[in-house]
Parts: sequence; C-alpha cells; structure tokens
Amino acid sequence: MALFVAGNWKMFASRAGVTQFVDELASHWHTADGVVPVVFPPTGYLAQLQTELAAKLPGCVALGGQRIHPEPQGAFTGESSAAMMLDLGASWVLAGHSERRTLFGETDEMVAAQVKAAIVAGLKPVLCVGETLAQRQAGEAEQVVARQLDSVFAKLDAGFGEGAVAYEPVWAIGTGETASPDQAQQMHAFVRERLSAMDAKLAEVPLWYGGSVKPDNAAELFAAPDIDGALIGGASLAAASFWQIIEQAAGLTSA
Ligand code: PEP
Repeated sequence: MALFVAGNWKMFASRAGVTQFVDELASHWHTADGVVPVVFPPTGYLAQLQTELAAKLPGCVALGGQRIHPEPQGAFTGESSAAMMLDLGASWVLAGHSERRTLFGETDEMVAAQVKAAIVAGLKPVLCVGETLAQRQAGEAEQVVARQLDSVFAKLDAGFGEGAVAYEPVWAIGTGETASPDQAQQMHAFVRERLSAMDAKLAEVPLWYGGSVKPDNAAELFAAPDIDGALIGGASLAAASFWQIIEQAAGLTSA
C-alpha cells in the first residue's frame, strides 16, 4: 500500500505563501514513488494551489478540503459543498478533525453526514478520530475511538469509497507531544480490527496517524505495520519539512 503524507494547513495561508511553498517543494522534489502527498489548504486557496502545482509539479500532489457542508447547495452562509471542493481541484476532504469537534461543536452525527456527502459526490473522506488526554488517562481511548468510528460506518450504505481514517489523539495535536510508535500502532490495530469486523473490505482502509508528526519522528511512525500515512499540521506549513517527511516515507516504501 502507498504511504500517504498529508498536510493540514488549518487557517494558515496567503497567496504569496502558496507560491513560495510550491516553488520550494518543486526545488526539493525528486522521485517519491509509493508516496501520495496531499495538501489540505484553507478553501480559498485550493484553486491557486491547483494551478501552481499543475504548472510546477504536475501530478505529484493531491489536494483536499478541510471541511464540507453535507448539503449539495443552499442558504448556508460561509459553507462549501462537496461538489464545490471537487470544482476547486480537491479530491479529498477532512471530516471530524478534533478542532472542528471541539471548537465548532461538530457532533458524530454531523461528521457522519459529511462523510456520506463526500462519498456520494466522489470526494475521498478522511475521517478523523481520537481521544482527549482525560479520556486516555481514564482508560477510555478505545471506547471513544470505537464510538467515533461506529457512528459513521453504521450509516454508510454505499461503502467508504477510497476514504481513509486518521487517528489523531487530541493530546498530540499541535502540542509537540507525539504518540509513541507503540501507542499509535496499538490504536491503529484496534481500528483495523474494528473496521474489518464490520466488513472485510474495510480492512484495506488506509490508516493515517496525526499528532505532532515531524521530520525527526516520521520514519519510526511509518515503520509501524498499521500506519499507512500521516496527517501533519505544523510541519506541513514549510515546504522543506513537508518534503523531508515525504522523503522518509519514500525511503520506506522503496525499501
Ligand atoms: C493536525 O492538525 O491534524 C495535526 C496533527 O497537527 P500537528 O501536526 O501540528 O500536531
């Protein structure tokens, strides 16, 4: 299976920054066989990023949106639909990122509706799941992740398409604290088992790890058998560190 290296830019971007990122990434680029890089910029920068990538790194980096509204269109000020993401060049979309759940009150039901809408429209969803520090300390990590998975997968009548699940322990996002490869692998194995039990086809769903992934810890995480990719916030903003993570993934896939 390919290794995914995905950058979540959150609310960090500018037109000049997009140009600089693509120029710098292109200056580092050499073959990265077996790696699928994906960038999730703020919606307003998707089209520019698509144009610049097509000119300077054709076919090398896929794009994703950070969130969609589940309805195809309507009076929903500030929102964007799955079809709009596709129109802007995205092929992926995040759903249920912990910042959306915590800061914007997104419930499991809302996340499930987004995942369903993405699949129906032909976007590949990345379902983000993960426990808080308090939940881990209370021994509830697996229970929380199971609930987040079940609430989405129970509602999927048309399969999960080519979607991915990202395990992002909330205590490791933007904190500099990373789950150890053992902790991450343990949860990924749990997710893999739970999905396979629902439907044998779901055993193939790529499982990404997210939470302070950096060039100096990426290789040991990628080496874990059930880690098929990384969702990277801070370290994806600079082309140099994003490229270093892609290189580490490429080294492992060609090994
Ligand atoms: C994220 O935003 O999904 C994330 C994992 O951020 P960071 O890499 O900065 O922890």
